[in-house]
Amino acid sequence: MHSEWVLNAWQTSNTDATTYVDSQKTISASYRNLKVNIKERTAAVIEALSDAIPNPTTELQYHSAYELLVAVILSAQCTDKRVNMTTPALFEAFPTVGALAAASPEEVLPYISSISYPNSKAKYLVDMANGVMTHFNGQIPSTREELMQLPGVGRKTANVMLIVYFNEPAMPVDTHVMRVSRRIGLVSESCKTTEAIEKALLRHVPKEKLSTTHHLLILHGRRTCTARNPKCSTCPISNLCKYHTHNAAKKIN
Ligand code: SF4
Repeated sequence: MHSEWVLNAWQTSNTDATTYVDSQKTISASYRNLKVNIKERTAAVIEALSDAIPNPTTELQYHSAYELLVAVILSAQCTDKRVNMTTPALFEAFPTVGALAAASPEEVLPYISSISYPNSKAKYLVDMANGVMTHFNGQIPSTREELMQLPGVGRKTANVMLIVYFNEPAMPVDTHVMRVSRRIGLVSESCKTTEAIEKALLRHVPKEKLSTTHHLLILHGRRTCTARNPKCSTCPISNLCKYHTHNAAKKIN
């Protein structure tokens, strides 16, 4: 049902419109139709983005909970590509959480020197590994509360572990999820913190679509809805987007 709706809106706004103004009016009307029901709008956005971005998943490379946790800690303020260039040698030197716990930050530092904030992250990694060895018997814990007890593991990192590795419902909110969900209008204007956005998305996105939605929003934010100069003219969900619709309405008036 949603795909039909999206297809109709998309075709109407791109094929039938004879002038720019007409197409923007159609887009505005499409958006207003969905405004009444945020769940409908969210479902339509997920469906349209799923068509544009097949098989969305994390771009971080890992083979175990230990490797994913290290990669996620390293990815803060750093690109996944850079992290993936770094981790093979790091995991070869420290193949287990026990090996990392036995190391010093100074020994870890050379392996992650090309990553942002290498000194802090080297310390976090060693402290995290010691926390796992001391408090969790060498096993990466699988609940948010336990994960967040580990040094260097905040709510977003814990949520990534839950949704990507442990297949538990969660919605990690990073800079892309925050920007994109607010621009599109998946969360209300009053959602100003990452936690408020997380809660709103958890309310509106069906449980079984949380992981897909999380990755779709990140990939859409990286590729199309960039922080500066979002590529609205080629965006597959411009007809559903609040930011785009408001800008279009301004141009008409
Ligand atoms: S239309 Fe523009 S602002 Fe809206 S989601 Fe697409 S790129 Fe982002």
